[in-house]
Amino acid sequence: GFDAALGAAWLTAAADAVAREAERLSMLDAAIGDGDHGTNLKRGFAAVAAKLAEGVPATPGAVLVLTGRQLISTVGGASGPLYGSLLRATGKALGETESADVAALAAAFTAGVEAVAKLGGASVGDKTMIDALSPAVEALRAAAEDGVPTAQALDLAARAAEEGAQETVPLRARKGRASYLGERSEGHEDPGAASTALLLRVLADAAA
Ligand code: ADP
Ligand code: MG
Ligand code: MG
Repeated sequence: GFDAALGAAWLTAAADAVAREAERLSMLDAAIGDGDHGTNLKRGFAAVAAKLAEGVPATPGAVLVLTGRQLISTVGGASGPLYGSLLRATGKALGETESADVAALAAAFTAGVEAVAKLGGASVGDKTMIDALSPAVEALRAAAEDGVPTAQALDLAARAAEEGAQETVPLRARKGRASYLGERSEGHEDPGAASTALLLRVLADAAA
């Protein structure tokens, strides 16, 4: 199940992965935005890892709420409040549980993605992180229905996010800075969808 130790292992590994991939994420953002997505997330997840190094909360929900708060306060840019809301709302929905099974995680993640959609106003096809988050949450719900174990369910969610991110390439951006480019935003992967795929791949690896 998804417990506090897995949450902390995920987010600590995420800080490393985001630091390693910061240049790639910022290059994607340079093509259709202002080129700071990698450095924004690198700063945010470094702050999260530092906080978790001081002590890990007792429940996975509390780990995610703390992470969300940290991202909101340290990431400049649209992605900070959006990822912050995702993790805070997912964490709140987990409640006091010590270890979430796939069904509980799918339900909580659904609440998290709904919070992102509400805050940012984006739908699937607008070329944002929603295009990776939404298929991932659907894959997790399907995995829960099929009784798939946690590690495999998280792998399916990561794959769905990776495919969703790839599918943003031909799209025209309708939200965020990239939307200012109009049709010139076509032909590039959305940086936020790419970082969602990265973060979910790191989670699947942490659970494997
Ligand atoms: P900024 O655009 O402020 O520089 P970042 O570069 O860190 O922020 O993040 C950009 C990413 O944020 C985009 O690639 C997109 O995925 C996501 N994003 C921007 N606006 C929205 C929105 N309204 N809804 C969902 N995601 C969004
Ligand atoms: Mg940017
Ligand atoms: Mg910016």
